[in-house]
Amino acid sequence: MVLPGPCTGCGAPCCKEYLITVTSFDVSRVAAETRKPPCEFASLIPAKILNLDEDTVLECYEGDFRSDFLLALNSHPCIFLGANNLCAIHDFAPYTCRTYPFNGAGRMHKRTLCGSLRLLGFRFSGPSLSAGEFSAQLKEYKELVGKWNRIRGTKQECWEFLFPPCKEE
Ligand code: SF4
Ligand code: SF4
Repeated sequence: MVLPGPCTGCGAPCCKEYLITVTSFDVSRVAAETRKPPCEFASLIPAKILNLDEDTVLECYEGDFRSDFLLALNSHPCIFLGANNLCAIHDFAPYTCRTYPFNGAGRMHKRTLCGSLRLLGFRFSGPSLSAGEFSAQLKEYKELVGKWNRIRGTKQECWEFLFPPCKEE
């Protein structure tokens, strides 16, 4: 039996309105579990968000022309949101989803789309993923982003760097 949680009955505005930025580890995990190729549900989107983590910005170059991208789920609404407003990939969803409305440090975001009663529920239940696990993955991803930003290349090359094609044995 699944016990009701703070999200029970919510219309899931978080999955409909937010741009869900993720790590390549999130995408690879979801790809392995769903057997979907990463390009079917994730994209490199222009980094035009006012408040972003600079260390997750992927710099891509066509000649001298630079464009900045973030790795994100195809959203608005997220393609994994079911008709019942529940996440279809809950058990292996991106870490930012499994932690929300808490941040990577385990603190609750100041602005959330959850109602006040639901926030009380979250305060009681806490995040469903430990802050340590989330921040360790984010740190590893930032190192990967830093490595790419030293190598540099086109957007397509960046995608192939993040998700190398499987080689036949
Ligand atoms: S992966 Fe699941 S929790 Fe995350 S935005 Fe999509 S539907 Fe919502
Ligand atoms: S995280 Fe908040 S906004 Fe999203 S489904 Fe749960 S209660 Fe609703």
